[in-house]
Amino acid sequence: MPRRCTVCAHEARAAIDAALVSGATPYDLHSTYIDLSREALQRHKADHLPEKLLKAKEAEEIADADNLTAELKRVIADVHRLRARAEEEGDLRTALLGVDKALRAFELQAKLAQLIDERPQINLNISPEWLELRAVIVGALEAHPEAQQSVIRAIEGTAGVKHA
Ligand SMILES: [Zn+2]
Repeated sequence: MPRRCTVCAHEARAAIDAALVSGATPYDLHSTYIDLSREALQRHKADHLPEKLLKAKEAEEIADADNLTAELKRVIADVHRLRARAEEEGDLRTALLGVDKALRAFELQAKLAQLIDERPQINLNISPEWLELRAVIVGALEAHPEAQQSVIRAIEGTAGVKHA
């Protein structure tokens, strides 16, 4: 009969999983969560760490929910730069690729934050940073209605991560 995993049952499991994925060792965690044995932490790391978290880590650095706002601000700065560049060079394709990449990165981070963080989900639609980003992107593409529509669809898909 399988033994009950003390780590899985632990109230700080989400934080422990996030720490393990970010490279914390069972030894490190044992010094924080003294009630969990190193053996239990090691076994949990080997057998119970969510597959999705591990795969995501391979693809992208983990960001917790507290980093999301900072990330959004970075995306906004990128988009501002891309807009300036698109205006200077008329290079819409490059600008759109950059916007798409930024949105995908943000979407991944939002999904990861939701896997790790058990607090109520972030509502992108009321985040001032998100609204600013959306306005900047849509405004930047005013002269290109077709591109604007496809970006709006992409943005709506990204905002939809809160339902995932
Ligand atoms: Zn476990």
